[in-house]
Amino acid sequence: MPHSYRALHLVARPEGELRDDVLELRTGDLPDLGDGQLRVAVRFVSIDPAMRIWMTEQKSYWPPVPLGEVMRAQAIGEVVESRNAKFPVGAWVSGMLGVRDALVSDGKGLKAFDPKLLPDPSWALSVFGATGLTAYFGLTDIGAIKAGDVVVVSAAAGAVGSAAVQIAKFMGCRVVALAGGPAKCAYVKDTLGADEVIDYKLGDIGKALSAACPDGIDVYFDNVGGEILDAVLKRLRMRARIVLCGGISQYGAGKDAKGPANYLQLISMRGRMEGFVIIDYLDRADEALAALGKMAMAGKLTSKVDVVEGLDHFAEALRRVLSGKNFGKQLLKV
Ligand code: NDP
Repeated sequence: MPHSYRALHLVARPEGELRDDVLELRTGDLPDLGDGQLRVAVRFVSIDPAMRIWMTEQKSYWPPVPLGEVMRAQAIGEVVESRNAKFPVGAWVSGMLGVRDALVSDGKGLKAFDPKLLPDPSWALSVFGATGLTAYFGLTDIGAIKAGDVVVVSAAAGAVGSAAVQIAKFMGCRVVALAGGPAKCAYVKDTLGADEVIDYKLGDIGKALSAACPDGIDVYFDNVGGEILDAVLKRLRMRARIVLCGGISQYGAGKDAKGPANYLQLISMRGRMEGFVIIDYLDRADEALAALGKMAMAGKLTSKVDVVEGLDHFAEALRRVLSGKNFGKQLLKV
């Protein structure tokens, strides 16, 4: 049984483009198991845009990762040794395991799942994990979508965005999706089923939105902030809802992050703009998983993953997400 581990520690706060040297690969020894403990071999680490914020001193829903600590990350792994009846050898678990290849845990904060119920264990980090839950609760709880709504989704070829497109379509909405480049736009339309797709990199986003949503927008599921959020604000329907899921266009900007200029439209359109964080919904996970399971059974839910291999390629994997090179849920295979 391997008692050593490798882990990626945060050793400096990034500024501007994320560099490899803000992280350091360290090795160490894990202890023998005590009563109630288990040893986990980590298989996949989830790469999330918000990690760029957690590396800084910026205030967010998680405190900054302290310098010298293992980089925080959601991950899945297999139990390879156990003295905890709840998590026997061979069980798969998910949780905030960090960017490392092995750990000893007392089981607190871990959730067991059955990989045989999924097309691939990695789905526990994509549509059947926080990604799918974020799209589901963002749309249904914050966005209060209903059949017939015009729903706009940004970063629609990405992990959360692609789930949001499929859920909104399944619930009878008309979906207008934004993505960057022809390959992603084709995927969003042909595979995910969006009604209209806008390649936001081609220029006048406002004009494209007006053409795709001539009667305005009921719900905007915002993953990016910035210019796209401003263009949507100008085209709201009465009682529109803006779901603030993320603002990836501003994550590297620190205190220079730009807010929306057109927010006064919310007043005249009696609209609402509300942020949310998925950790507040974890006690309702079963509700979302049941709905997503139904969609999957009906053949209406697919998931694409984009895998980078090796702990030492973590920074590269995160840069892919921040620059749009990822196509699907970005994972790091350990
Ligand atoms: P994605 O898989 O969507 O990857 C990010 C995508 O964002 C890129 O592929 C790129 O797609 C797009 N993007 C990057 N920069 C820009 C830019 N400047 N303008 C427009 N698009 C850009 O990541 P996730 O699905 O993991 O996350 C999506 C969003 O959801 C993030 O903002 C994230 O922080 C947020 N989130 C929020 C949660 C919550 O609880 N509120 C939970 C999980 C995620 P393209 O090539 O199309 O530009």
